[in-house]
Amino acid sequence: MMMLPAAPSRPAAAETAAAERRLVAMGTTLDLRVEASDRPAALRASEEAVAEIARIENLLSTWKPGGALDRLNRSCPGERVAVGREAANLLADVEAWSARTDGAFDPTVLPLVRAWGLRGEGRIPSDLERRRAIAAVGARHFRIDPETGAAARLSLAAGIDEGAWGKGYALDAAAARLRKAGVSEALLDLGGQLFVLGHRDVSIADPSNRGRAAASLSLTDASLSTSGNSERGRTVKGQRVGHLLNPRSGRPAPDFGSATAIASSGLVADILSTAFFVLGPEKGLALSERLRRAGFPNKALFLVRRGDHLEATSSPGLQFQLEGFSR
Ligand code: AMP
Ligand code: MG
Repeated sequence: MMMLPAAPSRPAAAETAAAERRLVAMGTTLDLRVEASDRPAALRASEEAVAEIARIENLLSTWKPGGALDRLNRSCPGERVAVGREAANLLADVEAWSARTDGAFDPTVLPLVRAWGLRGEGRIPSDLERRRAIAAVGARHFRIDPETGAAARLSLAAGIDEGAWGKGYALDAAAARLRKAGVSEALLDLGGQLFVLGHRDVSIADPSNRGRAAASLSLTDASLSTSGNSERGRTVKGQRVGHLLNPRSGRPAPDFGSATAIASSGLVADILSTAFFVLGPEKGLALSERLRRAGFPNKALFLVRRGDHLEATSSPGLQFQLEGFSR
């Protein structure tokens, strides 16, 4: 028998295969790239991640009937709703984050979202409507018991909106699945909010033109979320109504550009980008710093329109490149 020379062995790192998928999830596009030891493993892991995001969507969505939050939002005042331990824990967690942002982020903002017609064509509420909606916002309108997995809505006008944090939680859940499957290199992009396993260069969109990259930076095992008003706002009688609301004033937060948050958790990045936008660059950077000192690591990057230029301000030490400023 003739002996064949052994094939030169390749370094282990090169022996990976990738699976890429694009689909619709949580009302937006999910782009997924997963690397694993071989293609069947990459496909299997990516399917698990997609299934996990679908599970979270069913749990949290208030756009379709039947999920835990939807049932809570439709319940009679004081009625005990079995939302399950996961949703109850999550609600307690996001309420704690609302307090940490001094209410700039508030998951109970739904009455204001409705008053401004942000789930439809948009509208301008009267002062009375706006004041009533403000009064219906706040953690005091809910009772949550993570121990038993129960929750109650205490007033008829109150409601939970998952728009500013549900995608972040879904990314965390999907990333946890991927890690469990042994994946250490992946990129998940859920409507522009990113989760990176391993290391990757990513970009941040121009707030006036989402198709154009305005800045880029490197992420390692982290999530990046950007909040801005570019496309999701509404125009009512010629007036631009942003979809990011200041729960205190009950009005859309002033549109200055975009706020980006980076954190090891997708939930935290999602929450903070919303809070940073509502607060604006100055107060947003101060909150970011305060949270870091309080033991909640995070980074902030603000892109601020100045005439036809963008100006960037960020947390100290955040490394990023600007992709050319004039438009
Ligand atoms: P994001 O794009 O993550 O900043 O989330 C924006 C969505 O969150 C909006 O479309 C609203 O549904 C909801 N929202 C608006 N303002 C707030 C706020 N101050 N706190 C929490 N959720 C909000
Ligand atoms: Mg958010």
